[in-house]
Amino acid sequence: MVRPAAILEGVIAIFFDTHAHYDDERFALDCDELLENMNAAGVDLIVNAGCDVQRSARCLAIADKYDFVYGAAGVHPHDTDAMNDDTERELRELLRHPKCVALGEIGLDFHYDYSPRDIQALRFRQQLEIARDLNLPVIIHEREAFKEAMNILDDFRGLSLVFHCFSEGIEEAKIVLDRGWLLSFTGVVTYKKNTAIDVAAYVPDDRIMIETDAPYLAPAPLRGKRNDSRYIKYTAEAIALARGMDLADFAEITMKNGLRFFGIS
Ligand SMILES: [Zn+2]
Repeated sequence: MVRPAAILEGVIAIFFDTHAHYDDERFALDCDELLENMNAAGVDLIVNAGCDVQRSARCLAIADKYDFVYGAAGVHPHDTDAMNDDTERELRELLRHPKCVALGEIGLDFHYDYSPRDIQALRFRQQLEIARDLNLPVIIHEREAFKEAMNILDDFRGLSLVFHCFSEGIEEAKIVLDRGWLLSFTGVVTYKKNTAIDVAAYVPDDRIMIETDAPYLAPAPLRGKRNDSRYIKYTAEAIALARGMDLADFAEITMKNGLRFFGIS
């Protein structure tokens, strides 16, 4: 799966974008064109994270089409208010898909509060129970709700988790790392006055992943534009520099961590 970088002319490292949203309507017109050219741009693997049942199904349909694209299924905290009695059954169905490698993204978002907090917490717990039941790794979305999320996660210590787009400080990172979990970083590390870069420099080699969260969070040179997996190199460059590592070496450790976390061989 992992090709030596030298095979690709002009490509200096091979990347795994562990969190994207190609099911988003902003990719409606050119998703295929983009994905068809991704390997040539040095992106060897992509996981599309699900946000609700319909969008998770779209993620898995994209995974069906491309060998190097995988999917996850879950209900984002923003959308938990719309969950109903059928959702768990539909979700479990999607999670059986052969290219579904994780449950997510799920969690708590107290920044936007698009769904009531008690509903977010209830549905977070319900989905964590599904992950435990099916023995799946989990993609966590947590914003301004670290304490509340950890309170719930303390009942799920045995699960394999990644905190996607980690936006807390070093103290919170230590708490996550102490539990054996991973942290993933986006283009935010390239923004002026961000603190995520310090955390990304601190995380041990075997616990860090990188992602675009495309179409969101384009790295600095493209900030405000639509993001896609080709731009993950800017995020990788910033973190490699902060860690004092070669870009190719950093790309390799994040590739290995991603393969191990999602169970892709
Ligand atoms: Zn996301």
